[in-house]
Amino acid sequence: MNPKEVAQLLKGSRRLFILTGAGTSAASQVPSLFSPALGPNKETPLALLSSVMLKSRPTKLWTYISSYRNFILRAKPNPAHVAIAQISNLMAKSGAQCHIATHSIDGLINEAMFGPTQIPSSGIETKLLKHQGLTELCGNINYMRCECSPSVVYKVPAKTGSAPHCGRCGKAMRPHVQFFDEGPSEEFYGTMSAIERALDADCMLIVGSRLGSFVPRSIVDDHLSERRLAINVNIENVGTWRKNNVVSVAAPCEVFLPEVADHLAASLLPQK
Ligand SMILES: [Zn+2]
Repeated sequence: MNPKEVAQLLKGSRRLFILTGAGTSAASQVPSLFSPALGPNKETPLALLSSVMLKSRPTKLWTYISSYRNFILRAKPNPAHVAIAQISNLMAKSGAQCHIATHSIDGLINEAMFGPTQIPSSGIETKLLKHQGLTELCGNINYMRCECSPSVVYKVPAKTGSAPHCGRCGKAMRPHVQFFDEGPSEEFYGTMSAIERALDADCMLIVGSRLGSFVPRSIVDDHLSERRLAINVNIENVGTWRKNNVVSVAAPCEVFLPEVADHLAASLLPQK
């Protein structure tokens, strides 16, 4: 299926749900949390990014986060992120609902949609991090919080070195992300609300996700079980996609999606 045909499918949707993952950020040179580019570690990422590691060896946890953030601090939203933001805006202008959920924690889709988030040194309330139209299902690695005041979120300093500490209680801060040994959280990340939106969607656009973790996989499985339309754009061939109501596009999302956005704009906006 070509970009024009995908744009036509999106145009037919009234409640679009866009699910994106780490693959969307590959063109921004952001590696996955499991990439060897984050350096040799005795522990697995599952053990490193965990509440157990925060309690036992916070410096180890933050050293790992720092190696990941070194890539993020240099990264900019790429054409895939920008196109997803454009598609969302175009759908809204046409009177359709569109919600984006990402299980990437790099914050790039957020930046593409809303620009860099300004956070004063005194922090902001967690709820102010949530944006209409976007759910960061697993949080955002650019922010941190402390268990003594979990409703306040701070910006992670550019250089963390060892673990940043809370100015109130002195304990090591935690990143504002869902650890691998934690469940989804409505309170911190709005996960349940996003799942409800997904259940209501008439079309799902899946971009750069392997559906490796529970929430994205169950969102997609529920959607497909009701035989609703899904469009999967992924350079990798994902085996679970051989179903009748799935359109699979094996293309780089940073090339394919901008063309989809252009065709959607041309078909939705009045011609001069
Ligand atoms: Zn504290």
